[in-house]
Amino acid sequence: MLDVRRLVGERDALGLLEVARQFHGHVCPYVALGIRASLIAMDELGVERLDTSASIDESILAIVETNNCFTDGVQVTTGCTLGNNALIYLDLGKTALTLVKRSNWEGVRVCIDPERLRKYYPPEAIELFRKVVRERKGSEEDKKRLSELWEEAGRRMLKVPPEEFKIERVRVRPIEQAPIFESVRCSRCGEVVMSSRVVYVNGEPLCLNCAGKSYRAVIGRGIVEVEGMFKPDGGRQT
Ligand SMILES: [Zn+2]
Ligand SMILES: [Zn+2]
Repeated sequence: MLDVRRLVGERDALGLLEVARQFHGHVCPYVALGIRASLIAMDELGVERLDTSASIDESILAIVETNNCFTDGVQVTTGCTLGNNALIYLDLGKTALTLVKRSNWEGVRVCIDPERLRKYYPPEAIELFRKVVRERKGSEEDKKRLSELWEEAGRRMLKVPPEEFKIERVRVRPIEQAPIFESVRCSRCGEVVMSSRVVYVNGEPLCLNCAGKSYRAVIGRGIVEVEGMFKPDGGRQT
């Protein structure tokens, strides 16, 4: 198993890019920028990768403002993930990371300005991106070339100097720890649900899906209200 904590400790950005390739599925400029922003914020704040075995007061949170490739670079580097509740997603649509200490809610926010970073892309990459991705006109060869150029751009992003980012000290409004909710069984589908996500109809507990209610979902364009995402087929009974 790769020791990601060691890679972060040694500020081995290229090593982290390889971890990101596995986690994210490819190497691209924004996953690399997630790594770069994380390392800058860690140095500014004087913290290391999240250690979930340490006491909660010593721990950090990562706050991102978009759900794109950048966020995966942040998760790999900071160790703050959706599953360990140390990743907070604000639906602001900006490429920015705030790293914050839980002990005093002091943080460092690093914001990316895509226009300032244009000069770090290989020039051919921007042309080819337009052709292949925007206009969907690229040949197989173009696509292959673009992914090579994208890797090159990713490696370059790891070295962008801090002056190219907006870096600021921020005070973060304290965020509660994830509470543990009781479980309730839905009276229609029979599945177990967190009590905070149950509605009562005629005194019977129902999950939001069975109750036909809307609920929030993180999808490509942000956090939206959705409903009726599943059409149950009754399930496989064993
Ligand atoms: Zn990507
Ligand atoms: Zn149900």
